[in-house]
Amino acid sequence: MKIRVGHLYPDYLNIYADRGNIAVFMERARARGHELDVRRISMRDPVPVGEVDLFYVGGGQDREQALVTGDLTAKAEPLREAVEMGAAFLAVCGGYQLLGRFYRNVAGEDLPGIGLLPLHTTAGDRRMIGDVLLECEWAGRTLAGFENHAGRTHLDEGAEPLGRVVSGFGNDGRSGFEGCRWGRVYGTYLHGPLLPRNPWFADHLLAEALAHATDGEPPALAPLGDELEVSAHDVAAARARQRGGRFS
Ligand code: GLN
Repeated sequence: MKIRVGHLYPDYLNIYADRGNIAVFMERARARGHELDVRRISMRDPVPVGEVDLFYVGGGQDREQALVTGDLTAKAEPLREAVEMGAAFLAVCGGYQLLGRFYRNVAGEDLPGIGLLPLHTTAGDRRMIGDVLLECEWAGRTLAGFENHAGRTHLDEGAEPLGRVVSGFGNDGRSGFEGCRWGRVYGTYLHGPLLPRNPWFADHLLAEALAHATDGEPPALAPLGDELEVSAHDVAAARARQRGGRFS
């Protein structure tokens, strides 16, 4: 099968090698005999509704977020339509913030988001930096990553987080939640990048993308060896447990 990925603003939101997540999708799809067709969707590019199985947007600082926000909000409707038709979506850090209703940046200005996820974000004085470990009860798995953000993300009541924070700050350093998920849309602060050390999550997203491509259920993907990936996860998880998050 061909899995069609729509990479939003790769030229603006690509901090901390978030692009590595695409490389992971590529390799893991190929290992199962699928081809990954990555299409870039940047400024003024239309959203090809129905022709993208998996959207991806990475992180960026306030400056880059301000540059894309006008264009992104103009894409809000087709993006909502695409996910309502079953496309999957992974948004990391700065991209995650813009999937909410707004991001109030360090200068106190409100950058409008697209309201795809039930949340909003306000920048605080101190950045939240460090290794993170999450427990994702909905999947019975853990996610290990690295966070670096000034934004405090507040989920609406009843919104589903991506995971519960075992170590680190998470969405706001207080709620004990990290990220958000709504249907097949996932937002998170974890980068570093996220997927090389969390292969189960990459496969989960690929399976949902395949469900969209085939108009069926997410398939079970053949397991891969993953020794290196699992040890990368375990090293990161141990570091998170040891250091926790800390303000800087
Ligand atoms: N500018 C945002 C913040 O600091 C996002 C940062 C990022 O993408 N790393 O909260």
